[in-house]
Amino acid sequence: MAITDKIYVKNHQQLASQLETSFPKGAFKGATLDILFQGEGLAKLDEASRERVLDFAEDFLDCDCEANPHCGCAERKFISYLLELREQGMGPDAIVDVMSDDYMLYAYPGDVLSFLDNSVRTLEAVETLADVDGRDDVAEDVQQKRQRLL
Ligand SMILES: [Zn+2]
Repeated sequence: MAITDKIYVKNHQQLASQLETSFPKGAFKGATLDILFQGEGLAKLDEASRERVLDFAEDFLDCDCEANPHCGCAERKFISYLLELREQGMGPDAIVDVMSDDYMLYAYPGDVLSFLDNSVRTLEAVETLADVDGRDDVAEDVQQKRQRLL
């Protein structure tokens, strides 16, 4: 399962009751994207929640794909967001705190940790392949990227 399948909406019950409808707890579930982040119900949310929902829509759902918001861009952008937080030196707990402040989302720190570990391992594999291929420039780029995640 991708890390984006393990990102949840905080205060999920409360938001659902404000919207007078139900939607899944997973932030990147199709129905959550439709109902919470792109829905008409925005006006029904309290101000603090509305701001964060709008921030999320602006930062992750702003592509022009025909399939928006189900095109996969949101997931890709969110993964970059997580990696950027890591590059700033944050650990899993701090990353969860920041996503909660920024977008009212949460994840289990253990899941964030596995995601970061997997990202580093993926980069290691790419680095090895680039080495084998004699692509020193690529290997070096990837190595630098990987170092920033450690
Ligand atoms: Zn898109």
